[in-house]
Amino acid sequence: MFYNGFQITDGNRIRTKVCIIGAGVAGITAALALSEAGISVALVESGGLERDAENQSLNIGNNTGLDYLSPGASRLRVFGGTSQHWTGWTRELDDIDFTKKDWIPDSGWPIKKSDLRGHYDQAAQILDLGPKKYTYDFWERLAGKPRFFNTSTIETALIRHSLPTRFGIKYKDTIEKSNRIHCFLNSNLVNLELSKDNHKHIISAHFKTLKGNTFKVEAQHYVLATGGIENARILLNCNTQIKAGLANSSGNVGRYFADHEGSYLGRVAIRSPLINPKTYRTSRISGPDGFQLASATPALKLTEEETRKLRLPNFAAAVIPYMGHDVRWGTPIDAPLGHKEFDIYGSIEPEPCRDSTVSLSDDRDPLGTRRVNLSLAFTRNHSENREKVAYEFARHLSAADAGRVQINVNGKDRDSLMEGMDEYGFHHMGTTRMHENRRHGVVNSDCRSHDISNLYIGGSSVFPTFGYAQPTLTIVALALRIAEHLAITIKASP
Ligand SMILES: Cc1cc2nc3c(=O)[nH]c(=O)nc-3n(C[C@H](O)[C@H](O)[C@H](O)COP(=O)(O)OP(=O)(O)OC[C@H]3O[C@@H](n4cnc5c(N)ncnc54)[C@H](O)[C@@H]3O)c2cc1C
Repeated sequence: MFYNGFQITDGNRIRTKVCIIGAGVAGITAALALSEAGISVALVESGGLERDAENQSLNIGNNTGLDYLSPGASRLRVFGGTSQHWTGWTRELDDIDFTKKDWIPDSGWPIKKSDLRGHYDQAAQILDLGPKKYTYDFWERLAGKPRFFNTSTIETALIRHSLPTRFGIKYKDTIEKSNRIHCFLNSNLVNLELSKDNHKHIISAHFKTLKGNTFKVEAQHYVLATGGIENARILLNCNTQIKAGLANSSGNVGRYFADHEGSYLGRVAIRSPLINPKTYRTSRISGPDGFQLASATPALKLTEEETRKLRLPNFAAAVIPYMGHDVRWGTPIDAPLGHKEFDIYGSIEPEPCRDSTVSLSDDRDPLGTRRVNLSLAFTRNHSENREKVAYEFARHLSAADAGRVQINVNGKDRDSLMEGMDEYGFHHMGTTRMHENRRHGVVNSDCRSHDISNLYIGGSSVFPTFGYAQPTLTIVALALRIAEHLAITIKASP
């Protein structure tokens, strides 16, 4: 059921089991899963059903770090969140992404990939990645000859494509008809009030609309799901009871801010017919109605064993036929017969960097909340890592007799082919990181705050290590896991 925040009587108090803040990818996923488990939810969203400039202006902020897309442009304040304009590229994190790598400081998750196995399968359905029968073998057969390039050290990884699923469109009717999900639109979280005695428990969430009316939601549990930048901004802004902000006893809220950067690694002149760039284009299967059933783009990477042996960050590289003009990753182009050159464009895992931050600026938005300041940074190893990856990847391709590689040692110096290629993925990660030790993280392995017993955080802000894969499939999997955990907790409580 939908309610318009503008029409709620000023000072109203709403009681529910779970209050989810933010109706984007994570928030809607968690709300639907809890509702299916028979639990009532207040899902409170800053935006309306349609985009509008006034709501969107709440995202405006500053950028003081690396040249980076402004926080007002890279996410949406609308029902459905940023899924209303995401591109839909998806991949699970690899096993290696969850493990601690002693050559990457602060790396590793406190959970294993197997802890998300069932949630990933469900997440694939939610994101419309297609029937399970479209397996790796299927795409490999479809690619024709020569098949995917796999050696003892290089393998092919599949990036799967969502429609892309727009949560605001796909789930609007379900939520409208639901008796368990009460979705409040145009309503902005401005404070989380803690118990007076020990500050260890949220007693109410305070919301305000752009027309000025306010209301509170009192719940047993709260899920903050406002996106990778906003989760940190909100916690830092909620500082009336604790000066450093909520859930921030470790001082890590807003730190380790990360994104995936695309890097042009080099150009390959094919020596043998082992790799066919045509095999590495995006393939799509459509149903009789012409709609996409499934779609995938293959990419090349080093095997996990080789990545560990060489102590490299994880990465994958797209293979793009060099056509001498502007071509984007995945564009389904047919390379002419006998085509001999292709570009390799990689996404390299960024190292966790504590000095890369989301903080508060002195400017305030119309609700009186301090605006956000982004200062994206990479560790000192970043450019060296890029060079190492380019070199090792080239060495392995040559050793396998796949081709001769011209490495782009200066990752920034891209040729005209790459002009216009997005530098970043707009994958806002790391700002409320997961760690078993409260001194090193903001949430524990259940995505629950170390400091506040009834606060859970949804979204890629909890990622402590980032891999190269796009984050949204993992965001959905984690939101399902939070809902599952809450359902068990609520059912077990008297
Ligand atoms: C152009 C673009 C392309 C992308 N392409 C890809 C891709 O190909 N693959 C991929 O994996 N990812 C991609 N992403 C990233 C992807 O969109 C995000 O990972 C995903 O949307 C994050 O989900 P979320 O639920 O954490 O946040 P969101 O989907 O942003 O949802 C957050 C919600 O919280 C609401 N909110 C914010 N503040 C408040 C408040 N104070 N009170 C109440 N509600 C609030 C917002 O209005 C919003 O609805 C892309 C992003 C962009 C910008």
